[in-house]
Amino acid sequence: MTNIIIKTLAGLFTFFLFAFPAEAQTDLKRDILFMCQKEFDGRHPGSKGDSIVQNWVEERFKSIGLTPLSGNSYRQPFEVTDSYYFDATLRFEQKLKPANIIGVKKGDSDSFILVVAHYDHLKPNKEAGLIYPGANDNASGVAMMLRLAGNFSAIQTSSTLIFIAFGAEEMGCKGSEYFVENLPMDKDKIKMVVNLDMLGNLKNNTLYYSDPRPFNNLFAEIKMNCPELKLEEYDCGRSDHFYFWENNIPNTSISTGFDSGIIHTPMDREERIDYEGMEKIGSFLKRLIIMIDDIKV
Ligand SMILES: [Zn+2]
Repeated sequence: MTNIIIKTLAGLFTFFLFAFPAEAQTDLKRDILFMCQKEFDGRHPGSKGDSIVQNWVEERFKSIGLTPLSGNSYRQPFEVTDSYYFDATLRFEQKLKPANIIGVKKGDSDSFILVVAHYDHLKPNKEAGLIYPGANDNASGVAMMLRLAGNFSAIQTSSTLIFIAFGAEEMGCKGSEYFVENLPMDKDKIKMVVNLDMLGNLKNNTLYYSDPRPFNNLFAEIKMNCPELKLEEYDCGRSDHFYFWENNIPNTSISTGFDSGIIHTPMDREERIDYEGMEKIGSFLKRLIIMIDDIKV
């Protein structure tokens, strides 16, 4: 890739930053409110909320016009073992069957860009009567993924775009681990995996991304041409990009950061979400995906 191409693309980037419509904020809010309902018990694997959200994502993919990866199912079920202690000595184990929900927007070439976000969160603390709604972690990422899927239904790309809502991330990235272990495409055909985890708390306009190789130059150029957001490379911790990274598949995890003291507490609620910030991030992500799609590697 030449510097000139990148510069031209980066110049266009500023212009397109405003291409994420304002009504997006309402859509994002509606989706986050839906996922954070009290009755959903924090969407923990095995809960009613977890499976309702799986069905809901599937319906959304259908209505957007995404197709299943193979056959006629959007679901990729997998198994996880949940263990808990009855008391100090008595330990129970149970097998749970969550699923990854996968939707495809066919491109013109044989390459793939994956846009992924985990929908699960944590078990309630029944004794203390505490529920962990997981608004920022990670209803925000799923709402953004759905919004991008909607945006790209009207944009023809070279790469096939695969949108995935991963399950059981909070149990150790189990859904994405299963996906990578059973990769449905040649791994060399994956141009990039963009993981969205916690996008709802944009502080000081700073958006973090983990090592985006081989697109480091692209990110460096974007940084200089993106006055609306301060982009900072940062180790975003272990999230659903991890097993892609371990298998040398290009990936980056995008986040507004781990909001310490709020994330993984009952305070991670919808009221705290910064929708204006999410709108900026949405414009950035839309353009980023277009630019990655445009670059020949
Ligand atoms: Zn998360």
